[in-house]
Amino acid sequence: MRWVPGGGSPGGEGAGVGNCRDVVVGWFAGGLWGSMAGMGSRKPSAKAKQVAAFKSQLVDLSDPFAREETRRKRMSGEKEAALRKKACESKNRYSSRSEALIVIEECAEHGTIGLHAYRCPYCDGWHLTSKPPRD
Ligand SMILES: [Zn+2]
Repeated sequence: MRWVPGGGSPGGEGAGVGNCRDVVVGWFAGGLWGSMAGMGSRKPSAKAKQVAAFKSQLVDLSDPFAREETRRKRMSGEKEAALRKKACESKNRYSSRSEALIVIEECAEHGTIGLHAYRCPYCDGWHLTSKPPRD
């Protein structure tokens, strides 16, 4: 009397599990393959994003240079204004060289010698300087 309840069912279940595992492995492999395929298809767009980010970085990098250029131009403008003020606006202006020379003689009489008259490139007049003329 060997009554095995559900005899054959363990083997069947085993086979079923095996089948199920095969199905799971197959499904998992398919999932892996699918995800790998997905990665493969996403790569170009990811690279495109990197390229876009790189290009945007290039644009961002060019802006500071542009600002630096603008700042340098403004500083040279301020320097120009300072030079102008020092060489022109802060000085007495004479309309002619002879007038400037008269003032130089007057200054020499008062003890201030070594003055020179020069034509001002800013106001087109004449100013006096204690520095020797360059030309
Ligand atoms: Zn001047």
